[in-house]
Amino acid sequence: MRGKLVAGNWKSNGDLVANRRLLEQVRASAASMHGVEAAVCVPYPYLAQAQQILGDSSVVWGGQDVSHFGAGAYTGAVTSTMLTDFGCKYAIVGHSERRAVFGDSDALVAAKFDAARKAGLTPILCVGESLQERESGVTETVVGRQLDAIMAVSGVAALARAVVAYEPVWAIGTGKTATPAQAQAVHAFIRNRIAALDAAVAAGLQILYGGSVKAANAVELFSQADIDGGLIGGASLVADEFMAICRAAVPRA
Ligand code: PEP
Repeated sequence: MRGKLVAGNWKSNGDLVANRRLLEQVRASAASMHGVEAAVCVPYPYLAQAQQILGDSSVVWGGQDVSHFGAGAYTGAVTSTMLTDFGCKYAIVGHSERRAVFGDSDALVAAKFDAARKAGLTPILCVGESLQERESGVTETVVGRQLDAIMAVSGVAALARAVVAYEPVWAIGTGKTATPAQAQAVHAFIRNRIAALDAAVAAGLQILYGGSVKAANAVELFSQADIDGGLIGGASLVADEFMAICRAAVPRA
């Protein structure tokens, strides 16, 4: 049985004072929550702070990207083992902002995914189509291509220790959420594509939805058959809202 996961993506937000308040609130609130894993993916400089505050709690943490290189002469790059050094469980790879703003190609995302998993991190692989791609009817082509790029490098078995986040680009930070039916259709497509290669890996894979998730729409999204939680941007910066989203993922009896 797949568990539920709700991961916050703080993006380039935060400072030591605000983070402490947010992390302490999330930590306290998560202590009484069962059946959902809560995670926060913080900017690199704040990993030590996350580790210090969340270290003995149920909340886990991760990076928002990772280098595909190992140690060496790669000025500015942060390696997978640096993330594990700071206790990270997760590393987001292929976020649409990395793809669009920093030019991360499918091949580069696949190399990052591979470096992360080899270091023992659980990659959270983001996939998703732009508005133009959706309107042109090529959502499945785009998402299929993004997934295949990973499997070509790491193999389908690597997805047994990974998370996929379906994040339609047009829904990220726009306030425009995919309908539960739209999201479910793409999640089912993702699971079926993987099932064609390995049914057991597909059945166990957590597939998160991301894109303007709020407490108000989370219950309906998370109750879809193939939606196993969320990747949360803006709303993860507000402790009460983030934890309400986490609670929306608690399995109903
Ligand atoms: C994200 O950054 O991955 C995201 C889904 O952002 P938001 O929730 O703000 O749309």
